[in-house]
Amino acid sequence: MKRTASLLLIAFFCAACGASRQDSIVLLVTQDGLRWQEVFGGAQETLIDSKDGQTRQEFLRDTAEARREALMPFLWTVIARQGQIYGNREKGSAAQVTNGKKFSYPGYNEFLTGAPDPRIDSNGKIPNPNTNVLEWINRQPSFKGRVAAFGTWDRLPYILNRERSGLYIVAGEEPIPDSILTERQAAINDLKRDTPDPWFGNPFDSFSFQAALEHLRLHRPRALYLMLGETDEWAHEGKYRQYLLATQRTDRFVRALWETAQQISPGRVSLLFTTDHGRGDGPEWKDHGEKIDGAENVWIAMMGPRVAPLGERSSVPLVTSSQVAATVAQFADLSYPAPAAPIGVGPR
Ligand SMILES: [Zn+2]
Repeated sequence: MKRTASLLLIAFFCAACGASRQDSIVLLVTQDGLRWQEVFGGAQETLIDSKDGQTRQEFLRDTAEARREALMPFLWTVIARQGQIYGNREKGSAAQVTNGKKFSYPGYNEFLTGAPDPRIDSNGKIPNPNTNVLEWINRQPSFKGRVAAFGTWDRLPYILNRERSGLYIVAGEEPIPDSILTERQAAINDLKRDTPDPWFGNPFDSFSFQAALEHLRLHRPRALYLMLGETDEWAHEGKYRQYLLATQRTDRFVRALWETAQQISPGRVSLLFTTDHGRGDGPEWKDHGEKIDGAENVWIAMMGPRVAPLGERSSVPLVTSSQVAATVAQFADLSYPAPAAPIGVGPR
């Protein structure tokens, strides 16, 4: 009897210490200027060319719930069940940027640093004077060198102030800089170099996604940011079908990152998925900016061990993009010193 008890005791300690606890992983994914209207309502019939039967068949359904699930199946069947999503204005949940500018750099600055800054008033290649949450996480001893950012937009190194922050960043047309490349990384670099960059400094999302996924597998970062950008480009061009397809791919990319991270650290992965600004309504869907009504409205989705499975939020107070920075830090069990509290936690 006594011997059994001590064997059980040994077994208990082996389970606790032998299998070393996997590190937590925080994933932050953004898709530029993806509207809350599509996220919550799916494809909008009035914006689809009436002769485009293929798009209608692929994306139109009888209810908003079915349309949005056709567009973003991972968001609606996994994140919105296991986690939470804010921003459905029709259900009394508003999510907004507070920078007043409603365009990209001010939006990225707001959610990455935790506050709007009136000095950020252009999309220029200007090093950001503000500390961002990724840089701050990278300064914490157990995260040092284990934070990475992949972005389609060539402004990302400025937004994250690479020179000051020293963060690992691959953005725009840059190749993956690792000294030893896997065959897959080398192929990503070759394809990126040899594919036209249709928007000058904003290559297709697939390159950044594949590079981020391979980095996750190889280097097991503890915080990984993937900045995607196609939806904004297609929307400015008025190509609604392409905008929808880019949204659908984004959902697939988020699923792949999530599932890969779960294989590395089962049960210890957190995800925050959002955008840098909204866009106008109706015919103004292509545009955003200070003068566009409603372009301040965004959406914020999240899941992970610290996120209660409350699903699609309704009748809740406003949440803001400024809160994203502290929320991401909290997912890493860190308390980021920004005035905007983490989402789901009261003011401090
Ligand atoms: Zn943008």
